[in-house]
Amino acid sequence: MGRVVKNLGLYLVLVLLVVSLVNMFLTPEEVQKQYDEISYSRFLKELDAGNIKILQIRNNTVPGESTSATLQYELQNGQRFLTYGLDISKVIDKATAMGVTVTVEAPQKNVWWVNLLTSLFPTLLLVGAWFYFMNNMQGGGGRLNAFGRSKAKLFLDNRPKVTFKDVAGCDEAKEELQEVIMFLKSPEKFKKLGARVPKGILMLGSPGTGKTLLARAVAGEADVPFFSVSGSDFVEMLVGVGAARVRDLFAQSKKFQPCIIFIDEIDAVGRHRGAGLGGGHDEREQTLNQLLVELDGFDDTNGTILIAATNRPDILDPALLRPGRFDRHITVDRPDLKGREEIFKVHMREKKFAPDVEAGILARRTPGLVGADIENLINEAALLAARHDKDKIGMDELEEGIERVLAGPERKSRLINDREKKIIAYHETGHAVVAKVLPGSDPVHKISIIPRGHGALGYTLQVPEEDRFLMSRSELLNRISILLSGRVAEEIIFDDITSGAANDLERATQIARQMVTQLGMSEKIGLVKLGNKREEIFLGRDISEDRNYSEEIAFAIDQEIKAIINSCYEKAKEILNSRRDLMDSITKILLEREIISGEELDEIINKYDAEKNKKTVELNKDLPDIRIDNLPNNNHEFLA
Ligand code: ADP
Ligand code: MG
Ligand code: ZN
Repeated sequence: MGRVVKNLGLYLVLVLLVVSLVNMFLTPEEVQKQYDEISYSRFLKELDAGNIKILQIRNNTVPGESTSATLQYELQNGQRFLTYGLDISKVIDKATAMGVTVTVEAPQKNVWWVNLLTSLFPTLLLVGAWFYFMNNMQGGGGRLNAFGRSKAKLFLDNRPKVTFKDVAGCDEAKEELQEVIMFLKSPEKFKKLGARVPKGILMLGSPGTGKTLLARAVAGEADVPFFSVSGSDFVEMLVGVGAARVRDLFAQSKKFQPCIIFIDEIDAVGRHRGAGLGGGHDEREQTLNQLLVELDGFDDTNGTILIAATNRPDILDPALLRPGRFDRHITVDRPDLKGREEIFKVHMREKKFAPDVEAGILARRTPGLVGADIENLINEAALLAARHDKDKIGMDELEEGIERVLAGPERKSRLINDREKKIIAYHETGHAVVAKVLPGSDPVHKISIIPRGHGALGYTLQVPEEDRFLMSRSELLNRISILLSGRVAEEIIFDDITSGAANDLERATQIARQMVTQLGMSEKIGLVKLGNKREEIFLGRDISEDRNYSEEIAFAIDQEIKAIINSCYEKAKEILNSRRDLMDSITKILLEREIISGEELDEIINKYDAEKNKKTVELNKDLPDIRIDNLPNNNHEFLA
């Protein structure tokens, strides 16, 4: 309603602007276009000579028509001329006496309100702007201020119909939320016992793991009003709006208790105070302060539950996480094998699949993917099936869907010349052979030289057999060797190297750096964690924290990284040098067919090993296993 009025006002102003502009400019211009100007003295001369046929009098402007041949010759518009003079009415008598047709234009019939508004318009504009800014500056408490309203969407009758059945996996999270649901359903039970239910629940987890979905499911299960707002809704250019919105949100929620307030992506407002440029008193900080005030102020027995979600808990202000605020933390993990299988089942419910499609197989093919990825890949598969005019989604489409999610869509239209194709084929073959030969590496699922996604010209897809949480030192070294082997293959075969290994090198270096600085896997550096693990740089805060070691150590780290990379590189070179003919035969097939499946590759390599009596290679003796949290993903892309 308020929106409509605001828009109407805007249109009115626009219309007025146009009208007044037309009014101001149109009349004189129109006249000038059709008539040519002559001087007043010339006009008087022509009048005396009896050359004027018609005259119009418009105040001081006098358009007319002449019969003079010379004048007509001079004028572009033929007979029509225009002149300006003072007190022109004096010539009227003379003109009429000479037989000139004289017309006098009626005084302009300006509409009075247009006149009024055009004269008032600038004033109105100024007054409007003044009101606008005054309102915002005063913290938005005023009645006029629609900006201070919280943007929260309130779901009352159209509450989310999502229930826990729609959220698969994450059983621990569901269990913890169960308590909240019980409280929302019958708060009296808790009140009677004097039990305090957590005020604020913070859900943590990678993007796409289903945090938003879970919050909606809680509302659906408890069947209570649900205020949903995104952290970025509080952050506006206008000063004071964010804090006002927080106040308004909490005030409104009081009318609907018991209810849930859900703040999605809370990191947008909840970022550590003092971070960022612009001093200690910026808009976001005020908003956060207001949020803290409201958190402290609200009474936890009357039935408002606050749920927030973030995928960056590390950048949240510690004050938000203190007891009495968002003190209950629920981690929503990436789904494991069983979780993925269940998520597949949830999203397969309303679609038709070929009989050979099994959620279990798909789950095994997709380690590392989260719920959002799975939903996305099933949708991709459904789209493909529709494009192929099928009435059921088959395994082929799902395989393609998985690859699309992992590496982007195929780009067959991209033309690659034969020489480049050969280089790409050898590069990918290099990855595949080393991955196959080094013990304990993830099996190669597919090699392809069909371009995909942004700039990937070819890729080797390795799929782990199971979910991994621990990596040993030797496995990490193997991984680096595999990453480097594309470049090595190029070097061996073509005696030259291309830019295609940039992504491989970056990831190899990243693993090596992690081994040295975070995992204590370098003897020289020892068991210390060096540097700040955070890789994103937030202006202001992290720059100074990024490095907590001396130049000397920095030098040693670089040396160690180089040593690791070099030894892995040599290993890959050794493997590929002794298997040149194997690379040739695989590349030949790859160039013909563009794709080789994992089984085919196994067959070729096993046959070759049996013939040449090759043994598998031992890389490094195992050190104790060490947990790594964010394992880099495992596809090798040849980037343009
Ligand atoms: P987040 O908020 O953690 O980034 P979302 O809750 O927005 O992730 O998830 C995006 C979509 O992915 C959901 O709408 C849902 O379709 C799907 N999804 C994610 N996790 C799950 C899950 N555990 N079970 C079923 N679907 C899921
Ligand atoms: Mg979300
Ligand atoms: Zn590569």
